Amino acid sequence: MFDLNKLLRNNIRQLVPYSSARDEFKGEARIFLDANENSFGSPLPTDYNRYPDPMQWKLKYKLADIKGVPPQHIFIGNGSDEVIDVLYRALCNPGVDNVILCPPTYGMYEVSAHINDVVIRQVSLTEDFQLDMPALQQAIDEHTKLIFVCSPNNPTANSINREDIEVLLNSFEGILVVDEAYINFARQKTFIQELTEYPNLVVMQTLSKAWGLAALRVGMAFASEEIIQVMNKIKPPYNISQAAQELALQALENIAQVNEWIRETVIERDKLAASLEKLPLVVKVYPSDANFILAKTIDAKAIYQYLVTLGIVVRDRSRVELCAGCLRITVGTPEENEKLIAALADYKIEVGSIK
Ligand SMILES: *Cc1c(COP(=O)(O)O)cnc(C)c1O
Repeated sequence: MFDLNKLLRNNIRQLVPYSSARDEFKGEARIFLDANENSFGSPLPTDYNRYPDPMQWKLKYKLADIKGVPPQHIFIGNGSDEVIDVLYRALCNPGVDNVILCPPTYGMYEVSAHINDVVIRQVSLTEDFQLDMPALQQAIDEHTKLIFVCSPNNPTANSINREDIEVLLNSFEGILVVDEAYINFARQKTFIQELTEYPNLVVMQTLSKAWGLAALRVGMAFASEEIIQVMNKIKPPYNISQAAQELALQALENIAQVNEWIRETVIERDKLAASLEKLPLVVKVYPSDANFILAKTIDAKAIYQYLVTLGIVVRDRSRVELCAGCLRITVGTPEENEKLIAALADYKIEVGSIK
């Protein structure tokens, strides 16, 4: 049986959260002398002299509209990185509790675990980049508080089998985080609609990828009200700036433009994959459900360096487990993709072999 109270660290269960001026006075007033702000204004055309809404309600109501999830089920973090950090701090006693990670996957799960002194149990993906279910079941013990599953997965670009995630949701008594940073590009549907089904599910999404707002730092978690309330208690009171809240809200009005970009990206992705497959230096192009492609090459390091000399940067993932020889290539604009393919077509295979 899932019991959030039992999973929480003692200090978090007992935590009395910070109460800000904005929390303590909620009514209508004309004169605000409660937060030591600059009452004259700010040296900007728009006034930023007042502290922002700590709960980001306007933004959450807009997201609720788009996602079909009530606002009380949404947490907004300063990027997904804050969501990951807050989950570790809520659940994992340093040096005692563990998280299960499934490499090759997103690096921040591991870094954030190290920062929080959380024990890491690695259960590598299978050769076809799926969950190793028997090994996962083996790795879970009474100190396992969290499992991160990234789907579509970074850097492998594939979606994780839905049935496997469902088996975990049904059997695991800790919290299962499904990171859907790339869900907008996937054939697989989101797990957001399953929140009512699974009390142990946290779905992560972000405005950094399809929404084109990486610089704003807006990450989201969708979960039960109970989990969201704990996360709210832990986060810094004003974790999302007024500017980020306003700009995100404005961007969310432009859903048609974003959908158009998603369609274009998917078309470009499939074109890019086909072009890459024809190149002699490419050994294998892995199927992608994301806005990037993982390609195995004859010499990732040399090809990476060669591209840099032409002003093109891709990600060398060749040192990552199961990704020997692999480059991770973000789908660019049609012009950018053409330049990349032209550059790779010009690559002299001998160049790569001179060490
Ligand atoms: C890019 C990415 C994110 C987004 O991180 P932000 O901090 O929201 O920008 C989250 N998860 C994965 C797997 C990613 O690749």
